[in-house]
Amino acid sequence: MKTKILENTKADIDKAAGILRKGGLVAFPTETVYGLGANAFDEDAVGRVYEAKGRPSDNPMIVHISRASDIGQLTRMLSPDIVTLIENFWPGPLTLVVKKRPEVPYRTTGGLDTVAVRMPDNETALNLISTALCPVAAPSANLSGSPSPTRAQDVIDDLDGRVDAIIRGEDCRVGIESTVVDMTGDVPTILRPGIITADNLEAALGKKVVYDKGLSPEEGAPGEDYKPKSPGMKYKHYAPKAEMIVVEGERSKVKSEIERLKTLNEKLGNNVGVILFEEKAFIEAAHDFFARLRDLDREGVDLILAGALSDTDGVGFAVMNRMLKSAGYNIVRV
Ligand code: AMP
Ligand code: MG
Repeated sequence: MKTKILENTKADIDKAAGILRKGGLVAFPTETVYGLGANAFDEDAVGRVYEAKGRPSDNPMIVHISRASDIGQLTRMLSPDIVTLIENFWPGPLTLVVKKRPEVPYRTTGGLDTVAVRMPDNETALNLISTALCPVAAPSANLSGSPSPTRAQDVIDDLDGRVDAIIRGEDCRVGIESTVVDMTGDVPTILRPGIITADNLEAALGKKVVYDKGLSPEEGAPGEDYKPKSPGMKYKHYAPKAEMIVVEGERSKVKSEIERLKTLNEKLGNNVGVILFEEKAFIEAAHDFFARLRDLDREGVDLILAGALSDTDGVGFAVMNRMLKSAGYNIVRV
């Protein structure tokens, strides 16, 4: 398939919206990571997203809307808490899991009776969705399992020839995917951490918000018998082509262990890349992490050594969630 590379102009957005309306696939920028979109109500189009990404079809997609009130097309259940979160965080990197309307295809929700909805904070995305006149189901615009795409070139590398169009927009401001919070139970539950933290949600809601227990770092890799509520959590994710080790512990020890492992591995003829963020630069780490993985893969390194961030910070925790998955839970503690 020939992929059209489109620019962020009105004429090109109109073209992209036309492609979506006809059941095609369009990759587009959002503030979190690039998304690969299809009309959320078109089962065949959604099916093609799974094919293009090589994504397991029980992994549900996030449905993107351009006006908060469009959530009414997807769910009937708008509790006061849901309304509060929409008022406080949309447009923005917060995805709400709500009960789905019968009209929302199970293809889109991975067979679940709930649907994940978000209004992105990115003009190109909002223009595309509002011009397409339909909610847009969009997982990240990468091949399933590879690091999430935060720059147009990352999307082109993974999906050129597999989708109808790619909108070449700006680099993503946030750099990690949205916070996903399940609003269908009594207690709001974070299924995927992001830069909007539990503290942020609690401050807005005035009540306790919990993390899904599968996210707890002490539990390490979810075991075979663990049934995550958010199916995306059970697959190998975000993995670079290189081997990867996360070094965790006190800062100075982490630095010297990374140096030691680097020297050792280079002696053995390995090409080694290092990812070590400033100690409390959590937002920068979120912004750069996936891009660093992809750049190191482009350089052809064999091994990536990454310094763990403090996960007592909500954003640090969100980055660590990605870092540990990328490394396949390969951790060295010093
Ligand atoms: P991605 O589209 O790659 O950003 O991944 C979407 C994430 O949201 C995955 O981790 C999904 O498992 C999660 N998700 C989407 N829809 C639902 C849902 N209805 N219930 C729980 N998690 C969901
Ligand atoms: Mg993804």
